[in-house]
Amino acid sequence: MTAVLLDGTATARQIKDELRAEIAALSDRSVRPGLGVVLAGDNPASSVYVRNKTRACDELGIFHETALFPATTTTDEVAAKVQEYGRREDIHGILVQLPLPASVDASRVLSLVDPAKDVDGFHAENLGRLVQKRPRFVPCTPAGIMELLARSDIAVAGKRAVVLGRSDIVGKPMALLLMHADATVTVCHSRTRDLPKVTREGDILVAAMGRAGFVRAEHVKPGAVVIDVGINRVETQEEARDLLDEARLVDFARKGTALVGDVHAPSVREVASALSPVPGGVGPLTIAMLMKNTVKAARLGA
Ligand code: NDP
Repeated sequence: MTAVLLDGTATARQIKDELRAEIAALSDRSVRPGLGVVLAGDNPASSVYVRNKTRACDELGIFHETALFPATTTTDEVAAKVQEYGRREDIHGILVQLPLPASVDASRVLSLVDPAKDVDGFHAENLGRLVQKRPRFVPCTPAGIMELLARSDIAVAGKRAVVLGRSDIVGKPMALLLMHADATVTVCHSRTRDLPKVTREGDILVAAMGRAGFVRAEHVKPGAVVIDVGINRVETQEEARDLLDEARLVDFARKGTALVGDVHAPSVREVASALSPVPGGVGPLTIAMLMKNTVKAARLGA
């Protein structure tokens, strides 16, 4: 079996196209959705993520503003900006790019994000609403995965779903969304025993661990749908030879770097019925859902 590739880029484009009509309707009421971003420290990946997010805003005509803070910044400085965004009428959504520097108390900062502008869905109020199945803002990555499954006509109800990873940002909300969609859900983590046996139970397997190419054919039930959330950078020849197929190796030789997921795509492709690629899978959907949440925040707040 060779897995069908689930095209996150095309699905993200579809979602963004649907948003254009909503943005035009808001514009008729003189409302322009606005996103306030906080970027602190000098994590190169964070800068790339923020650039991709603000680029999507530009594409759709969403206003955005980014506040930059040095790695030495304090909780109070970042908190003051988050509170300022909370008061401003031109800002409907607030995004605090994680991770924050060690000098900043991230949970305090996230608790100060106005829940009505919490487009990442990380505030306890929004996570609580998600638990109670009356969501307002759902974390973008798991929400994007549900869109990808739905728009790829992959049924969830009644299926066994296995989520690999239990973070507040991906694993936990993913498990809740799958459960609310009537899957029977198992959540795995670093203390799970006999991991391949558990993951092989999944008709749907979501890998969100941050371990390059960890999920191999032995972890996957034949015919399963595999969603690869991981974003990992490959820098060495040895890793590249193990994780990349021929076409991508050529690209690696030219650039000296490549992005891979948590799934070992060359082997899993032969076992799974569908696989989301990295890049071009979950990443673009995360951004599309951030745009969707920002437009929703503008609609609810306007
Ligand atoms: P975290 O580091 O917060 O969580 C990783 C989870 O994986 C933990 O629950 C951890 O278990 C589990 N884990 C790690 N190693 C193993 C192992 N060997 N066996 C079993 N479980 C393991 O990561 P995030 O959830 O924030 O992100 C996961 C990945 O997804 C990263 O690569 C990140 O870059 C990517 N990501 C991609 C996004 C996108 O838009 N595509 C958005 C967000 C994240 P334990 O709890 O026991 O430590």
